[in-house]
Amino acid sequence: RGFDEYREFVNPLIAQRAALAGEPIKLVRAEGGVLYDDDGHAVEDFHGTQAFGHRNPYIADAIRRYLDSDAPSWYPARVNPFAGRLARRLCERAGHYDNAFFACTGSDAVEAALKLARARTKRPRLLGLEGAYHGCTFGSVSLMSKGYLRDPFAPFVEGAEHVPFGDVDALARALAPGDVAAIVVEPIQGEGGVRELPAPFVEALCELTEKHGTLLVADEVQTALGRTGRGFLATARWPRRPDVVLLAKHLGGGITPISAMLTKRETFLRAYGDHFASGESHNTTMGFNALSSVAALAALDLLTDERIERVGRLGAKLQKGLSDTLARSPLFREARGAGFMQGVALNSPDHPWLSFEHFGFEDLGQKSIISPLVCHRLYRRGYFCFTCGHDWSLFRLQPRFDIPEEKLDAFVVAVAEELDYIEG
Ligand code: PMP
Repeated sequence: RGFDEYREFVNPLIAQRAALAGEPIKLVRAEGGVLYDDDGHAVEDFHGTQAFGHRNPYIADAIRRYLDSDAPSWYPARVNPFAGRLARRLCERAGHYDNAFFACTGSDAVEAALKLARARTKRPRLLGLEGAYHGCTFGSVSLMSKGYLRDPFAPFVEGAEHVPFGDVDALARALAPGDVAAIVVEPIQGEGGVRELPAPFVEALCELTEKHGTLLVADEVQTALGRTGRGFLATARWPRRPDVVLLAKHLGGGITPISAMLTKRETFLRAYGDHFASGESHNTTMGFNALSSVAALAALDLLTDERIERVGRLGAKLQKGLSDTLARSPLFREARGAGFMQGVALNSPDHPWLSFEHFGFEDLGQKSIISPLVCHRLYRRGYFCFTCGHDWSLFRLQPRFDIPEEKLDAFVVAVAEELDYIEG
């Protein structure tokens, strides 16, 4: 009945769209990285938040021990020993930063960064990149790419503007007046289609933001915590460390909601002064909660350098496997990304049947149904992949970090067979 209630009362539109690609899915059980539906059908979860597998026993045990102890359920933000410990551990792992501010979701970490930038610089403008996804609050939506995730909510936050993706000249022009408080970027755009910022753009970004006193904010909600296999943060090897780094997704081990904003203490205190230090000017009730901190501390224990190195190695192998094996298919465009943040871009055959318009979803209009269709076929084969928020010509793979290598090999074969089937 729970599933029917979900469809009826919670999210009829999403349920309708899921149904469009096949049967509505009822997930009833999870074991490690595998989800089971009510038919007992098993699918490997490629959704990313479960980097450590569902209900990871080590993380679940840490949560259980906390709940069984006599520690308070809630502390005022400044005196929470678990959040304090987590802040220190995060800064040690990330390097460079010595302050962590905690919130509950990626969106409100973005919001905290935007407010920090305004408070610190007293400047009006805020920049985002075309193709960006930053969340669902007004600040994050305002910096986000044009399209159905943003447009219905106009007007947006004053001073918010876009820079075309990878356009160094446009970036230089936008920053030149010296009135930009912050620019927010994803090292690899996730919802925008697994698109990595080109190196020359990153160089210009690091140099120009420093020159003009604009805060460089890296939204690493998708790319951090080992996901790209390039280390703890994807920005660690940038020519200049961003002033602000945002983390969320599997920070709480995929179980508890928690996000973090890492900065230098100096950046943070100059923005908010004593008002922030006492939790007055920007804070949320559950932002520094102990339960999420406990889960995140356990997740950090699991995030070893060896695990991250494996993500890098197997991610590269997966990408090469997909590129080599799928090259024969006219539907295949490219496999791209880093580590276990991979996207498979597809060509859309020009056929009216393959548009969402055909199914009566006018708002999605021209978007091709090809990638949801492939995801649906792969679901039947035992893999739960998903499309990007903005770019539906792509499907994404964000495997758990300890997925068996053979499973990734088998996945490549499955994708090749499904593309052959669709073409046939
Ligand atoms: N930033 C990026 C890059 C994201 O991908 C997301 C979520 N997909 C967010 C921010 C927002 O995070 P949340 O959904 O936790 O609010």
